[in-house]
Amino acid sequence: MQQNVLIIENGEGNLELIAKLVRRAGLTPVGATSLTEGKVRFSQNIPESFLCAIVAYSLPDAPQGQAIDFTANAFIPTIATTETLDSGIRDKVLERDVVDYVPKENSQNYDYLSRLITRLEKNKSTGVIVVSTNRILRTRTIALLQRHNFMAFECLTATDAMHTLSEHNHIRLVITDNTLPDMTGTQFVASLRKAFSKEQLAIMGVAGGQGMLMSAHFIKSGANDFLRLPYCHEEFLCRVMQNVEYIESVEEIRRVANTDYLTGLPNRRHFFYMVTVQHQFLSEHHALALIDLDFFKSINDTHGHDAGDIVLKAMAALIEFYFPDEIISRFGGEEFCIYLPNTPIEEACQRLEDFRKVVESEVIQLPSTDIKVTCSIGVSGAVTQRVDNLLSLADKQLYAAKNNGRNQVMCEQPDSSPLEQVSLL
Ligand code: GH3
Ligand code: MG
Ligand code: MG
Repeated sequence: MQQNVLIIENGEGNLELIAKLVRRAGLTPVGATSLTEGKVRFSQNIPESFLCAIVAYSLPDAPQGQAIDFTANAFIPTIATTETLDSGIRDKVLERDVVDYVPKENSQNYDYLSRLITRLEKNKSTGVIVVSTNRILRTRTIALLQRHNFMAFECLTATDAMHTLSEHNHIRLVITDNTLPDMTGTQFVASLRKAFSKEQLAIMGVAGGQGMLMSAHFIKSGANDFLRLPYCHEEFLCRVMQNVEYIESVEEIRRVANTDYLTGLPNRRHFFYMVTVQHQFLSEHHALALIDLDFFKSINDTHGHDAGDIVLKAMAALIEFYFPDEIISRFGGEEFCIYLPNTPIEEACQRLEDFRKVVESEVIQLPSTDIKVTCSIGVSGAVTQRVDNLLSLADKQLYAAKNNGRNQVMCEQPDSSPLEQVSLL
């Protein structure tokens, strides 16, 4: 469903500025410059299509936040905007059920608004655990998180929280009180850090009245952040946002570092990591295949480099489709690698032979013409604990496949001498 954002702003200038931010976040603005018009625009769309509303506190026909009441009563998460950071208006805004409020004072405030809109969508799949035996603290914190669309989990003990973490893999932040029934908050943080690094899971300690040392104690035990109780609504949400954004930035950097930019496949480095870390003990029945496109240089020479890129992407998509459960990679240039764990060599060779036929018959559409390509494949199923051994044996087979006329699979039988090779062509 298209994700709309209802904007009710005073004046066309403000409306256009905020609409721009909304569009930049990949969402569709539905704009109005008065409450009356806002009601009409709202009724013209399905209520569920609204991700959130951005509403001015003061409008010509709604001078005291009545437009905020309208969108909040329609169950749309509402972000209020105010002209300035006036403490009287702030209190009036915050006594309503709003996600947050943003004073339209400077460009940084607009930047905050922009991050907030993007977050509301992302938060739907971001989990946060709140661990405390203090019911009021727990309920209040959960309510604030839910206003921001987070998937919020309540836990009373450290053990409870560990259990929730093991059941959900989308949790990015744990907020913990210091007085838990089964251990102290700082002990809990230290034990969490044995399983999750600071870049995988953010931890925020909260505690009140225990003096200045508490925050240092939490941070030295491995927490990313600390907040003194009772916390201020705005500071709490800003810190939650910052901590979650930190985890996401690291995830994004890691994703980029592990991915081949052109095809989106894991790159060579990540391939080695996956094979050696995820399959610490290589199985006895496994295989590794090296796939190299035939005469690829001539595709570049004839149709241009961009056409070559299209062919590489098409090849990557075929590998992804035909080897969904294997570890795959673009190894570099026009070479791809597949590790097939728990697969006897005969079965692996048959699958690669089937794949070779698929490649041979695939028609790849280039802007100027349609073309076909072929590939040569070398496979090794040697019993070894070293991936580099397996790789160099597969490379020998690939070399043999090229020398033998290309467009074929060469397999090394695990129990045969290296010279006895089988061509499946
Ligand atoms: P063979 O059948 O022996 O494998 O011949 P080949 O032409 O496929 O192999 P060769 O190693 O001679 O050429 C590989 C070419 O791949 C050369 C290089 O310019 C091209 N290439 C490497 N990376 C990319 C890329 O990302 N995009 C494009 N379009 N071409 C690439
Ligand atoms: Mg080649
Ligand atoms: Mg090559």
